[in-house]
Amino acid sequence: MPQGKPAGLPCVHLTESYTCAIFGDSRRPTVCATFRPEIAFCGVSRDDALQRIQQLDLISHPEYRDD
Ligand code: SF4
Repeated sequence: MPQGKPAGLPCVHLTESYTCAIFGDSRRPTVCATFRPEIAFCGVSRDDALQRIQQLDLISHPEYRDD
């Protein structure tokens, strides 16, 4: 996604079975290849992770930032 992934939308490389279609491919972004799951971001379930991502999207939105 050359222009970045808009908040609230899934990555274009995410398959219907929630796997990465370019896993192991050199086109896979470094941020994805180096990310290690942790409770702070992923929670304990898919629903938990989606809620946390939604909160991160919201608090990082330019309209909500002070800097
Ligand atoms: S690992 Fe990265 S490229 Fe693959 S589906 Fe997830 S966000 Fe997209």
